[in-house]
Parts: sequence; C-alpha cells; structure tokens
Amino acid sequence: MIWNSVEACSRSEMQSIQLDRLQKTVGDIYDKNPVYKKRLDEAGVKPADIKSLDDIRRIPFTVKDDLRDNYPFDLFTASREEIVEYHATSGTTGKPIVVGYTRNDIETWSEVMARCMTSCGITSKDVLQNIYGYGLFTGGLGAHYGGLKIGAGVIPISGGNTQKQIMLMQDFGTTSLTVTPSFLMYLYEVGVEMGVDFKKLNLRTALLGSEFWTESMREKIQESFGLKAYDIYGLTEITGPGVSCECHEAQNGMHINEDYFYPEIINPATGEALPVGDEGELVFTTIGKEGQPLLRYRTRDITSLSLEPCVCGRTLIKMKKLTGRTDDMLIIRGVNFFPSQIESIILKHQGVTPNYLVVVDRQGTLDEVEVRIEVTAQYATKPVHEVFNESADQIVSDEMATRDIVKALVRDIKDVVGITVKVTLVPPGTIPRSEGKAKRYIDNRQKR
Ligand code: ZN
Repeated sequence: MIWNSVEACSRSEMQSIQLDRLQKTVGDIYDKNPVYKKRLDEAGVKPADIKSLDDIRRIPFTVKDDLRDNYPFDLFTASREEIVEYHATSGTTGKPIVVGYTRNDIETWSEVMARCMTSCGITSKDVLQNIYGYGLFTGGLGAHYGGLKIGAGVIPISGGNTQKQIMLMQDFGTTSLTVTPSFLMYLYEVGVEMGVDFKKLNLRTALLGSEFWTESMREKIQESFGLKAYDIYGLTEITGPGVSCECHEAQNGMHINEDYFYPEIINPATGEALPVGDEGELVFTTIGKEGQPLLRYRTRDITSLSLEPCVCGRTLIKMKKLTGRTDDMLIIRGVNFFPSQIESIILKHQGVTPNYLVVVDRQGTLDEVEVRIEVTAQYATKPVHEVFNESADQIVSDEMATRDIVKALVRDIKDVVGITVKVTLVPPGTIPRSEGKAKRYIDNRQKR
C-alpha cells in the first residue's frame, strides 16, 4: 500500500516537483535569511541562476558547524512567530543544534512519517508503542505525528521504563514498535530474564532507526521477537525521522521522500558530486521546509543511491543502509575502520551478545584497538579472559570455550577490517546501555 500517489510518480514528474520547490526554497532563503544571502552572494549565486536541478551544484554546502555557529536561530527562514515547535540535538559537546518548525513543517513531517509507516505495512489497525524519546529529540514526536496521521493507536511511552514497556506490550496488545535497535535488544534481554516469550505477543513490525544496525542484527531481532524489522532514516537537521524508510515488499534500501528532501552523493574529500550508484557522503537540500530549510547539508553519512525499479511500486529513489559516518570513521594504523563493522562479525559467533564497545588508544606511536564484548549468560559465571593478537602463547585463559571464541573473533575481525585487535570478553550487563543512541566507541588517542 502507498500513502501518497506522488511516491509512485514518473521520474519527470518528480524532477518537475523538485525543481519548482528548489527554486522556491532558494528564493525564500535568499530573501529572508541574511546569513544565507551573504553566502550565496559570496558564491556568486542568485536564485534566478537555479534553472535546472544540476544547478544545485553551484550552491555552497552547509555543515554541522554552520548550525552551531548560528545558534540558536540565525539560520531560521521563518519568523519566530511562525515557529510552532522547536527541537534540538543532545549537544554533548558544546551548543546543541536547534531546529524550528512552522505549522506546515509539522504537517510535512507527519506526512513523510505516515508514508514511512505505511511503507512498512503499519495501518490504522495497529497499536504502535512509540519507544523513541519524547522531548527535544525528534524521534518521539516524529513517530507520534506519523502514527496519528495514519490513525494507529499510539502509546506515547517514550524511552526507558524497561519493565513497563514489556508490560504494555503484553497488556495493550502492541503490534508495532518504533525504537532504537540497541534498546530493543536490551528489552529482549530483560524480557527473557522475566520469562517473557516475545514471539507469543502480537508484535509484528518494528521501525528501527537513529543508530547503525546491520543485516545480522536485523536477523537476530526478527528471530528474537517474531516480527519484521525495517530501517528508517532521518536526522534532526533535516526534519527528524521520516527522510527515508524501507518498504515491506523489498525490505532492502530506503525510499527517500525526495519531493521534500533532495539527495546528492558527493566525494567527502573533494565535495565533487558523484553519479547515482557511487558510494559517498549523503547530502540533502530540504525543498519543502519553511522554518529552517537547509541547502546542500552534508550529513556525514556514507551510502549510495539507486533508481532501480522496486517491487513495491514506489519510484522514489532509494538509499542503501548506511555503511558508516565520516565522523565515526576511525583511522587505525592507516586503515579506515567503522566501529559498526564489528557488529555483524559478533553476531555470527556463539557465546557473545551484540553489546560491544570499541576502545582505541595509543601506546607510544602504535594505535591499539580493544573490542569489549559481553558474553551470553551461559558464560556469566566463568572468569573473563583476554587475548592479544593471534599468537596462541599470549592467551591468558585456560578455559577452552572462551579462548576459542576470542580466537575466532580476533581472526574474523582481522579478515573483515584488516587490523588485529584485542578482544576482551566481559560479563553480561557490564557495557553501559543506552536509551537513545548507543555509543559504540571511545577514542582515547586525542587525550594523550
Ligand atoms: Zn520499495
């Protein structure tokens, strides 16, 4: 089922909508926002210069620091009076990033979220437990608006409240979940301890976003809960969740709501625009936003786009599951390394859980990587063992089972990532759980 016929329009119809909206957006920004006007003037671009979609390449990029530098409201295009809702990122370092929505922006957000939910097969018959945090974080209210728009029964429980989450899933007959994958797996652990069999509940759909997760994690979640798990993508700066989402027919690649969010892929090193199909950094221009439209915003997310026809009938361009973030990319001994790559490796092994933390440090001039992984309850009572490199004589364990797990993990990580890491198995529950985005790595090298 498709929520809005525009999702299946022809390429030329889509391009015509995009060009109209792009021209209007650039015109509005130029007229109403002095910061942007100055930048466009400096780049020698006037709104009238945007005659085709390719002319977007003449416009300078916007980056996260532009939002911080213009904190809180200097990139707003609408007046403060027109703003009806504010959101912000958590801003763990320095000032947060603020976004303002007009009434039309909230309507657009509801619309794109309604499309995403419909695309995953969620309907007015569903009971939707919204586990995303409500508040300044966009996840909670974004999913809430989408749920209301399609007429689902929304349970606005927000994050946390682990035991109550499970109680409501049982008592309210929850069918759909909106949640981060790491918190969902945490709910599973707690539920299993409580003796809950999630497969016996009514759960059938989970929309998972706001952090990286792999295909192996999808299999694990689907198997554990007896539901279908879909990837949904978004970011606060652009609108929050609802920028793109998988469809249940293909469950492979996220259809971008490109009549509102115009995507490009660029070479992150040079800024050069790349053709459809190439992997690079994802860039969005919001072409239907009033409060704080952004021109060519660099997301730092690495992916590729595809215009291959989809079995669901949508013609919206697709983006692949993210392969990483340019700012999460660590360079270890000269090798590019995304901590998220570890996850799919861990999930192939018995005896360990997907709760992991990558710790990078420097001993002298040498970068060292430690991967801490929680063992399953089966190993909980056994001592924790360590191993360094592949050389067997350095193994300090005399416990065969955990030693074999560690050896296999070190080998597989070396195969996939190309570097030798130290694997430390830690007891269950010792790696901090997140109720929002999971923090998967710590880089201590800068502190030295
Ligand atoms: Zn599709």
